[in-house]
Amino acid sequence: MWSGSMLVLFVPQCKVEPLRFTPHEPTEAESWGRVSPGSYTPLSTSTCMPPLSHSRWILQGLRQSTKIFSLPIRGQRWIATKHPKGFYPPAREDLEELRERTQEFARREIPEDVAQRTDHENEFPNKMWRKLGEAGFLGITADEDYGGLAMGYQAHCVVMEELSRASGSIGLSYAAHSQLCVNQLMLNGNDEQKQRFLPDLVSGKKIGALAMSEHSAGSDVVSMKMTAEEVDGGYLLNGTKMWITNGPDAHTIIVYAKTEPQAGSKGITAFIVDTTSPDTNGFSCARKLDKLGMRGSNTGELIFDSVFVPAANVLGLPNSGVRVLMEGLDLERLVLSAGPLGLMQAALDITLPYVHQRKQFGQPIAQNQFIQGKLADMYTKYRVCAAFTYAVARDIDEGFEAPEIRTQDCAGAILYAAERATECGLDAVQCLGGTGYVNEVGAGRVMRDAKLYEIGAGTSEIRRMVIGRAFNREWGVK
Ligand SMILES: Cc1cc2nc3c(=O)[nH]c(=O)nc-3n(C[C@H](O)[C@H](O)[C@H](O)COP(=O)(O)OP(=O)(O)OC[C@H]3O[C@@H](n4cnc5c(N)ncnc54)[C@H](O)[C@@H]3O)c2cc1C
Repeated sequence: MWSGSMLVLFVPQCKVEPLRFTPHEPTEAESWGRVSPGSYTPLSTSTCMPPLSHSRWILQGLRQSTKIFSLPIRGQRWIATKHPKGFYPPAREDLEELRERTQEFARREIPEDVAQRTDHENEFPNKMWRKLGEAGFLGITADEDYGGLAMGYQAHCVVMEELSRASGSIGLSYAAHSQLCVNQLMLNGNDEQKQRFLPDLVSGKKIGALAMSEHSAGSDVVSMKMTAEEVDGGYLLNGTKMWITNGPDAHTIIVYAKTEPQAGSKGITAFIVDTTSPDTNGFSCARKLDKLGMRGSNTGELIFDSVFVPAANVLGLPNSGVRVLMEGLDLERLVLSAGPLGLMQAALDITLPYVHQRKQFGQPIAQNQFIQGKLADMYTKYRVCAAFTYAVARDIDEGFEAPEIRTQDCAGAILYAAERATECGLDAVQCLGGTGYVNEVGAGRVMRDAKLYEIGAGTSEIRRMVIGRAFNREWGVK
């Protein structure tokens, strides 16, 4: 039974005021799952959400109305370099509305049993892609011309956070598609490439991925061995890629390969590989990986055996792959930092109901100061990390005409959030005691999922290194 009528809302980073809610008998999901009072009210199929096809319409309508009434900046359409055409920074209400829409989507499409099944069966629910597309979530940073919402990086973080809160692995696959693939195409593709690839990716008809890492080239990714030999009309790709998120399912993969192996980092080219094309017969997924966490975010080892890629599918310029890679890296770090934010929220969603209900020594365990200390730490870590991520995203969105994207900030946001999320996951397991250690409850899943963010998209050590080097550059030290 909830003991009070005022609880703090653990939703957007900007909401600090307590939310009044009517106490109710907790459902089983609230007792065991990730449902927190105030932030989640029980789902009613009749009142909760318009059909998915309408949800995108609502977002677009919302954006249109703000466009007309609040920020008409002349000429912005042609100036923005990291943002979609016609972008203007979303108002706070737009972002709150988007967060509510995403929460409603998650409640309906990714309830606890879906999140648990995805983890236990290590299988992504592929029907989700169309649903994410219909909701407009797959093209948050894409031009409207290609079906996108043109909403920018704060919005992308909001969606990433709330999807990850519902399921870390669905959130991760979402980011690999919408940020690593879609946004990379937006930033580097030419008009013809965008027209050819983006509409299907944004609608969820096709699944996207990005393949950079190899067995022997992880942190030192420019030491990659995959080659792209120039032939008549295009290139032949040979080699393997490792740990590729969405790799087993992907139709469109941005692949990095060496066009001039002897030129080191200056000999890498980025390609758009269409795995459905008959030219890509030599493409295969050697195996889907069995992972500690993020289970169900399908990760694969990919083989390229003389895969033909037409010259029209070179992303950016030949031998400029490192520029393409770097172009997206900071923004990837930023958007991915919202993944651990969602997982920290998930940890709180699981822990708060439990510690207020579970009694030992005749009282709820939340009345013990050791438990209170953990709750305070979890909550504070979440709030600090959310403030960091959204401050960086806001600066980039609001400076959209010439955004200053600081490596220290983007790498710092994910470095800090990733480590704090693992700690929150561990605290959630600890607060739930034996219950936290069984797989029927999501605490262990959150903990295992969180650990990935200290490794994937660059490890904590490498993030510290790039932050240090960024300062060195500013101080003129090589
Ligand atoms: C679930 C998952 C999904 C992934 N998805 C993708 C994807 O979609 N696309 C893709 O291209 N890649 C993906 N990756 C790969 C990921 O980016 C790499 O695993 C990561 O960059 C680390 O590389 P590595 O595993 O080879 O570790 P290594 O580079 O071998 O590092 C091992 C350890 O040594 C440390 N280390 C290495 N170099 C240094 C140094 N100079 N100083 C200090 N410490 C150092 C590392 O920090 C780490 O602790 C994914 C990985 C995972 C696990």
